[in-house]
Amino acid sequence: MAEGVRVEPDLNFIKFLKKAGGDSMKKCFQCATCSVVCPLSSDNKPFPRKEMIWAQWGLKDKLVADPDIMLCHQCGDCTAYCPRGAKPGDVLGAIRAYAYTHYGFPSGLAKLASNGRNLPILILLPVIIIGLLWLISGGAHIPDAETMRTVGFGHFFGHWEFPWLAKNVAFIDAIFLPAVAFSVFAAYKGVKSMWDAMVEQVAPESDFRPSARQFLVDYLYPSVVEILTHKRFNECGANKDRVKGHLPLLLSFIALFAVTNYGFIRKDIIGIFNPAMHGPIPLYDPFKILANVAAVALLVGMAIIWANRSRLEEEQGAGRTFYDWFLIGEIVTVGVTGFGAEIVRLLGIPSLAYFLYFIHLVSVFMLFFYMPYTKFAHMVYRTFAMAFERFRDSNFVNPAVTDDE
Ligand code: SF4
Ligand code: SF4
Repeated sequence: MAEGVRVEPDLNFIKFLKKAGGDSMKKCFQCATCSVVCPLSSDNKPFPRKEMIWAQWGLKDKLVADPDIMLCHQCGDCTAYCPRGAKPGDVLGAIRAYAYTHYGFPSGLAKLASNGRNLPILILLPVIIIGLLWLISGGAHIPDAETMRTVGFGHFFGHWEFPWLAKNVAFIDAIFLPAVAFSVFAAYKGVKSMWDAMVEQVAPESDFRPSARQFLVDYLYPSVVEILTHKRFNECGANKDRVKGHLPLLLSFIALFAVTNYGFIRKDIIGIFNPAMHGPIPLYDPFKILANVAAVALLVGMAIIWANRSRLEEEQGAGRTFYDWFLIGEIVTVGVTGFGAEIVRLLGIPSLAYFLYFIHLVSVFMLFFYMPYTKFAHMVYRTFAMAFERFRDSNFVNPAVTDDE
């Protein structure tokens, strides 16, 4: 006689899901309507029905190693059609939030950044770092309107008679380069743990590992193209407007990334040989124009996402979670303070411009430093989960997991 399967639920995990917006999962009676209506689920590897039962049973390890939780784009179609109001889209969102903390490195920081009660600490950390550097830099005074018009925020961290590297550039680099390097390393550690766990779950017997070329060309590159074209987002039914907000947001991030790199090369590299490059980038510079267009696209995209999220909460009863609103708050603050500081500078109000610029630096620091642990992490985890999906479906791996397992 076959022995029964012993299920050992992780009660803390179930508690986390309930708090993070997945408290409706107990209502699920396994009708599978959600897997049928999900536009992204395939016939041979359907989701999210199986995730619903795993979540009810508290099977944490199985869920965090399940690529399908990252492949879900939270379109809400399943939630709209679920006859029991079990909100599978929200449950998957809550599992993803848990996974970012589970894989987060270092785990203490990941736990800190995943809880709304820690928000004051999360804000205070960059406020103290940037505030202290502002004080010790010798730049802690407000310039007059005329100086500000000429040098912009170029003297925010003071000024020295050293033509090769502006003091402001040196301080900005000292704050942001380590923060971004740390964030990239933490994201790498998290994604690697996720990939290893997925391999262990999906193909424990396979000793095939893709070569670097194979991984980049066959798995990662097509996934990035798919993300840039928003192919999967376009398949959403109940929540079509999401793509209208998400696409401009994604494109604005890419544009701002290009502009930041341009600024880095201009001020930090060319500026060493040509000190005139240290000042503000002129308004007619194509990269400055791109930056301003991107800032508008970011704010428009965020407004659509904000309205959309509020509608979901009102119409579908989606839970109001720290996980969703922290990222929205961060991006809105980055956009409003960045744009606002620029306008107020041009209007000649230095004290307000400096205040907005300070908040802008704090919000940019938060966005990047906490990236691997917040909803922003979906950008990285989903990209690699999509690459993993291709790896899983390749001839090299025999899928070991089916919907009913
Ligand atoms: S979540 Fe809803 S639609 Fe999906 S299996 Fe459960 S009851 Fe059915
Ligand atoms: S939210 Fe959308 S993508 Fe995610 S499981 Fe539901 S239907 Fe599929």
